[in-house]
Amino acid sequence: MSGSPVWHPFTQHGLGEPIPLVTRGEGAALHTADDRRVIDAISSWWVTTHGHNHPRIVAAIRDQAERLDQIIFAGWTHEPAEALARGLTAIMPAELTRVFFSDSGSTSVEVALKMALGYWHARGEPRDRILVMAHSYHGDTIGAMSVGARGVFNRPYAPLLFDVGTIPFPAAGAEQATLDSLEQACAAGAAAFIVEPLVLGAGGMLFYPPSVLAEMRAICVRHGVLFIADEVMTGWGRTGTLLACEQAGVVPDILCLSKGLTGGAVPLAVTMATEPLFEAHRSTDRARMFFHSSSYTANPIACAAACANLAIWRDEPVRERIAALATAQAERVAALSALPEVSGARSLGTIAALELGEGAGYLSDRAPLLMAFFRERDVLLRPLGDTLYVMPPYCTGADDLDRVFAVIVEAVETFG
Ligand SMILES: *Cc1c(COP(=O)(O)O)cnc(C)c1O
Repeated sequence: MSGSPVWHPFTQHGLGEPIPLVTRGEGAALHTADDRRVIDAISSWWVTTHGHNHPRIVAAIRDQAERLDQIIFAGWTHEPAEALARGLTAIMPAELTRVFFSDSGSTSVEVALKMALGYWHARGEPRDRILVMAHSYHGDTIGAMSVGARGVFNRPYAPLLFDVGTIPFPAAGAEQATLDSLEQACAAGAAAFIVEPLVLGAGGMLFYPPSVLAEMRAICVRHGVLFIADEVMTGWGRTGTLLACEQAGVVPDILCLSKGLTGGAVPLAVTMATEPLFEAHRSTDRARMFFHSSSYTANPIACAAACANLAIWRDEPVRERIAALATAQAERVAALSALPEVSGARSLGTIAALELGEGAGYLSDRAPLLMAFFRERDVLLRPLGDTLYVMPPYCTGADDLDRVFAVIVEAVETFG
């Protein structure tokens, strides 16, 4: 063995790509050990909402670390968790009355699936089929992979993944096929439908309209199938509204939140649920409690960071920042769509995406070349195959945004 013992995620070490050493973050930028300022155009994998090292989040972490670092959450509680749960129930749809904590988007999805099956089990109506949408991504644990798209990412683990019902993605012009397929699958009996509202992120930044989301919700209601919204990526303003579901007037039975929950500073997730989900598990019978926990459930420092995130949403012009960024990106995307090498240029809220040529999938040979190209130009972009996308922190200024899009134009001209 030579070099670092670190084994990186989603990284092919055999390619010997350089791995930059980052020492500091500030606002929309990262600073490296060799003194480069890198624009973080993907919010450090979709988590950093207000910018790196927001002073208010840093202060909350520091303050909480001095008081209470960690406490068992089974049968014990603490103020940061209580305050966060109150804050979340106040800002999220009123029907979502219960907050269950975990540590990552993947675990929030596992929790959602277990809540759904626990609900049906408690009702003595053991439904267990989960419905999903093609091209979805819900995380990398076994259950989360099971409800996500199958492919090169999870082929070796296929024997471990459980069977699900898959409805097609509602591509423009083919929306009715999706709705018909969901209607059929729900009529055949299912426990729950899990979906990423409006944007399928890791599946290639695929957008579909709010009207389809609303229709899908209505179909689930008609058949009594639980509706799980995975807003791990779309939540916290990414699509222009606090939740993507908002744009469709949809309230899910179960809501998964993580990534921007702490402003992207420390890991934390919540699975919010309506009262019937909670009631199904509430009893004097200990065999019916919700059997899920992890050591760091509702870690006080993480909860304090999330409370600071809520305070920022309350006190700072976050919505205005998002709207300004959305407008700025939409203008730049419109300009890019004129280039002949570009297809599918689109934007929604703070997310902008386009395909280079016709798009050749995640393992496109161009992807590693593109990543290196951007890295050499001090812009952090990580294409999904031939899909280039931008998802910057909300504090990103016009100069940085200009630079990001100029580098993308250069890449289109070089590789398109
Ligand atoms: C990132 C993501 C997850 C997984 O979250 P992790 O914190 O990486 O486990 C789940 N669902 C969606 C929609 C995501 O974008």
